[in-house]
Amino acid sequence: MNKPKMASEKSASRVLMLLSQLERQNEEPKVSDNDAIRQITGKILHLIQTQEKTRKEVASKSSGGMEIILSSLENTQDLQTTLNILTILNELLTVGGGRRTGVFVSKGGTAILMQLLVSSSKDPPASEELMLHVHSLLVKVGPKDRKFGVKARLNGALNVTLNLVKHNLQNYKLLLPCLQVLRVYSSNLVNAVSLGKSGALEIMFEIIGPFSKKSTTLLKVALDTLASLLKSGMNARRAVDRGYLPTLLTVYQDWHRNDTRHRHVVIRKSILGCIKNLTNIKLGRKAFIDANGMRILYNTSTECLPVRTLDPLVNTSSLIMRKCFPKNRLPLPTIKSVFHHPLPHIPAGGPVAQLYNQPPGVDDVVDESDENEATEVDTENDTEYDEDDAGHKTQNDDIETDINKLRPIQMMTRPFDELRTYEYFCREFSENFEDDDFESPRSVIPPLSVNSELHRPIIIPTTPSSLGPQNRRLLPEDLLTPNESPLELDSISISKRPESAPDPDLVCSLGRLVLDVNGGSADGPQDEAGEQAVLEVPDTAALLPLHDPDLYLEIVKSTRSVPAYTEVAYPDYFGHVALNLREPILERVYGVQRTKIFQDIERLIHPSDILDKIVYDLDIQSCPVIENGESLKFNSKFESGNLRKAIQVRKFEYDLILNSDINSNHYHQWFYFEVGNMRPGVRYRFNIINCEKSNSQFNYGMQVLMYSVQDAINGRPHWVRTGSDICYYKNHFSRSSIAAGGQKGKSYFTLTFTVTFQHKDDVCYFAYHYPYTYSMLKMHLQKLSALRTAQIYYRQDDLCETLGGNSCPLLTITAMPGSSSNDHIGQFRSRPVVFLSARVHPGETNSSWVMKGTLEYLMSCSPQAQSLRESYIFKIIPMLNPDGVINGNHRCSLSGEDLNRQWQNPNAELHPTIYHSKSLLQYLRATGRTPLVFCDYHGHSRKKNVFMYGCSIKETVWQTNVNTSTCDLHEDLGYRTLPKLLSQMAPAFSLSSCSFVVERSKEATARVVVWREIGVQRSYTMESTLCGCDQGKYKGLQIGTSELEEMGSQFCLALLRLRRFTSPLELHNHNSHLLDMENDLIDTRSIPNITSPTTYVLDEDEPAFLEEVDYSAESNDENDPDLEPDLQDNHALPDPNSDSEFSRQDSLN
Ligand SMILES: [Zn+2]
Repeated sequence: MNKPKMASEKSASRVLMLLSQLERQNEEPKVSDNDAIRQITGKILHLIQTQEKTRKEVASKSSGGMEIILSSLENTQDLQTTLNILTILNELLTVGGGRRTGVFVSKGGTAILMQLLVSSSKDPPASEELMLHVHSLLVKVGPKDRKFGVKARLNGALNVTLNLVKHNLQNYKLLLPCLQVLRVYSSNLVNAVSLGKSGALEIMFEIIGPFSKKSTTLLKVALDTLASLLKSGMNARRAVDRGYLPTLLTVYQDWHRNDTRHRHVVIRKSILGCIKNLTNIKLGRKAFIDANGMRILYNTSTECLPVRTLDPLVNTSSLIMRKCFPKNRLPLPTIKSVFHHPLPHIPAGGPVAQLYNQPPGVDDVVDESDENEATEVDTENDTEYDEDDAGHKTQNDDIETDINKLRPIQMMTRPFDELRTYEYFCREFSENFEDDDFESPRSVIPPLSVNSELHRPIIIPTTPSSLGPQNRRLLPEDLLTPNESPLELDSISISKRPESAPDPDLVCSLGRLVLDVNGGSADGPQDEAGEQAVLEVPDTAALLPLHDPDLYLEIVKSTRSVPAYTEVAYPDYFGHVALNLREPILERVYGVQRTKIFQDIERLIHPSDILDKIVYDLDIQSCPVIENGESLKFNSKFESGNLRKAIQVRKFEYDLILNSDINSNHYHQWFYFEVGNMRPGVRYRFNIINCEKSNSQFNYGMQVLMYSVQDAINGRPHWVRTGSDICYYKNHFSRSSIAAGGQKGKSYFTLTFTVTFQHKDDVCYFAYHYPYTYSMLKMHLQKLSALRTAQIYYRQDDLCETLGGNSCPLLTITAMPGSSSNDHIGQFRSRPVVFLSARVHPGETNSSWVMKGTLEYLMSCSPQAQSLRESYIFKIIPMLNPDGVINGNHRCSLSGEDLNRQWQNPNAELHPTIYHSKSLLQYLRATGRTPLVFCDYHGHSRKKNVFMYGCSIKETVWQTNVNTSTCDLHEDLGYRTLPKLLSQMAPAFSLSSCSFVVERSKEATARVVVWREIGVQRSYTMESTLCGCDQGKYKGLQIGTSELEEMGSQFCLALLRLRRFTSPLELHNHNSHLLDMENDLIDTRSIPNITSPTTYVLDEDEPAFLEEVDYSAESNDENDPDLEPDLQDNHALPDPNSDSEFSRQDSLN
């Protein structure tokens, strides 16, 4: 202890002199005189009670007053002195806020008080006044002392306080501070266990009683203490055994009934807090159900709903009900995909082997021990305040810290002889252009192969409506005779005799099919069979130069799908014209999630209201067809379609289940399906009940996409953002550990949206995002190739065949050399390569639209486009995962694997597109043509805007806090240039969302492998939002295809500017503007994300919204805002890190 320097203070105040006297007494205990000390402390007390100045002097650090007073308290045996000092301390700590208490704690005051408490209790009868003082002080100190709980336990204070409570149940004056201290004690889990063993629960239940306006403060503290105690599983079990749960429910109902003016919401909330903690254990949930808890809380909540101030009660009730809601089985025979595709071989130990090796009959939908207890251990370790660490745990987990894994790989992984075959894909480098090459456009396009085994009818699904009276005007008059009933067509067959038709016949009948491009005029096709119909095709040719319905059908014939689809979805056939309308990001209405959850709970409360009628089911061969007009009709049997099952739960509400990726048992998020037989003007609620990700942009203003065939026919062929009451939340369908990566007790998530259809008997399509099929790509490529001019070098090769037997197009686009002169050929061959790819993830259709923008720009005839073509040779793989796209997968290829995790070691048989893409890159590197830029286009489901991920050793190292001297690497900062340029040029692009950190989980992605192994410094993933923008010109708007396509063309323009910085000529003048720009880019202050961990660790960058508080039914107590005893947390916002799934699940770009 530092000796205070009293003597040096010339004008020592009175209190300082007294302190000085007291200090002398402390130093000479032998001669100390009880009377003297009593007198001195009495005087100090008097001064303190009368002068604020004195309080300040005593509490100031320089006076050492606190130490002296505490020292006296420790030494004295005299009751009066002790009381004096306790009163002094109470006076001191009552004002001055936390600072004085902080001084008190830092000088060891807590322990001294505890010791005093324990020693006084050993000498009965303890002075009530002393106990009152000590506890009043402890109440003040408790919340400021991080180790309060431990100190109390170690000093043996827990039972002293508990016994005081037990023996003073009628003595409110003493009871209240004791209970308050008990509440602080029990916030420590170990203490809670110990107190529980000593009977604390039973004592609390003696205090908690029915509604009474008396002593509500006391009751509130008792309830909060009880809630803390019940966080221990052992206590919770004891409470359930004693039958306390029904008691609590009764007490809650009593308060609910009697507190009519809502004066005691906090008490009602505290009762719910106890129930909430009790139901953390399985026994508690069972007791809750047995005690009719669902109905009680449902009814009370329903009564509370109209009063906004009762929201905290409704929210907590809803949380409890969701937790106790019995877990349901997903109504499926298996979670494995409906479709199966045999693989050439199955690597042992991989995910597919696991899938295949499951013994038949194993139920993979739910775990055996159905509802699993979240393991709850009453640890002996101190869990007190460990939320302090929660902030910065795991944040850096995923960053690569192994420097060797960040250094480039020098060795070629394959011998050049093996790579030589890829020369074929780079023949422009060896081509000797002839003079006549410059006269007409040249290109090489593989002939459209029509596989004979694919001859099958192609059907465009529709409903009778399209032929119904209201559409008569659209049909050729001669097609329907006046009194003929509408054709009973589920679909319009566009082939006459599909089974037997040989190829020419098929082509012929398709030709006949022409769904009347000319607007249904007279010479429309005559239909001898009488079952053929002619539909008016919206004339989109002017708006969609790359779209041609006939060509589309032609291409579809050669697209191979695992389910052997025979139908074509209207939107893909008609085409989509971007809506010329702003589509704002939806503002979320407060209470939507709660309302939806209550409707879900109603299913349990009123089971007889539930229809449970299966109206669509791919698992059943003869998918039920509902013809009673009371149900919607669903269909997903077309390219990129995904909907496995539809169940009508209420008259206008449907549960929908998505299909897993083929050869997989999960990865579903993408959906694309057709709905018919609707009633106009009715609100239909759709729930997709087996979503996997723990959060979604659907919670932040994103809408689903809808395409109405009626609208299309009437000149509005648009995918439109639609739906209201949209939200995404954890539901009560349990997810087996097989589907949850081994984790037990997980649930699925529901995406719910409500739609009102405009037209009677329309056919509408719903999709996760703007569909873009493989056949559409092929059609676009064919149309694009027709745009080539004599200046454009365009070549389309088939990189390889996929597992499903589809070709993977590889494009080479550049400018023709100026002439066949050596100079021109030399310039041609020296152009740097830019390597682009997209759509490795089928569900990220936005990446295809961005790619479309890039391709259209590259084929355009503007001078800049020509200049760009003259600058680079583009190697483009626009669809890395054709099979996944065709079959409606969300993430994988037919191998059941995420292809963007295979780049380190792709298998030629299982991952052919990746294997050959990588080999081609290796070939380029081996021949000295390492691409200048590599960029893989992706879509991001949980962030807004468009942004890039790149690779930088330095920025990775900075983030890991690894001693930077270990990485004194020189690093070219060129990787920053392209994103910076894009942020200046592309309105949707956001630099602050970019990150250049290499994560462990991404080490097998294209971006990281191409950077490390191929040595491409500018190797990127470009992520486009599925939702919209929160900055720039499109701020507040959902993204549409024109913005995505614009992004693709702006990318081209940025490459053109990049050329300025990278041309060999200008590299020589490296010091000029290039350096300036690079320096500008280096300035970390201008790139905020570089110091912000959020961009790469959390894939979530949304602010928490009001309702997120009951976002998860399995609330984690550590993050529970209820923990703050006095927080009126109706809108408390949780820690965004609280759901660990947040940071992990969606980091799979
Ligand atoms: Zn992706």
